[in-house]
Amino acid sequence: MTKVPLPPAPGTAEHLCLALANSIATLPGGEWVDELNSPEDATAWLVMHDLVPIGTGLLSYCQLQLTDLRENLRRVLESHTEGVAPNAESLGSINRALAAVPSAALLHHDSNKGLLRVANHPTTQLVDHAMAQIAEDAAALLTGPDAHRIASCASAPCDRFMVRTHARRQWCSERCGARQRANRAYARKQDKSPAR
Ligand SMILES: [Zn+2]
Repeated sequence: MTKVPLPPAPGTAEHLCLALANSIATLPGGEWVDELNSPEDATAWLVMHDLVPIGTGLLSYCQLQLTDLRENLRRVLESHTEGVAPNAESLGSINRALAAVPSAALLHHDSNKGLLRVANHPTTQLVDHAMAQIAEDAAALLTGPDAHRIASCASAPCDRFMVRTHARRQWCSERCGARQRANRAYARKQDKSPAR
């Protein structure tokens, strides 16, 4: 599993939705990480966040559901930080996840066993449940008291989201802050150098 070589952005430990959003990121040095790069990685990520039991094995279908939710979540977070309306498709994706909490096992009839209750797609249901929890966290964060503190890291190309720990915090990590300061110092030096 590819681990993000940076400490988690502020708020990530408290918010599953930020953990998911930041599971793909372009880091300050331009490296690119995707913690959900394969069904195995996606399984490990869900297990690590206590969203599915150890021993669960995701199918590629489930991995794609999760990365699709992530993409839409990132779009909604981005529009929120920009103060613009989210697109309906992305909002719909989060709402589908919210509404897809697995229902009770259904009633089936088997010619040998008679009536019995069966969970049709156990792994799919586990993933639906995990996605519902992530979507619930997103809905709560985006409408809660910390909504105005959601920000994206200001140190391009880093694109991680965070909950600002104080009003002026602009970076997701020390490393991003240091990089941004170095860039500014370099820009100032360029400004002062005589025109050629
Ligand atoms: Zn950053």
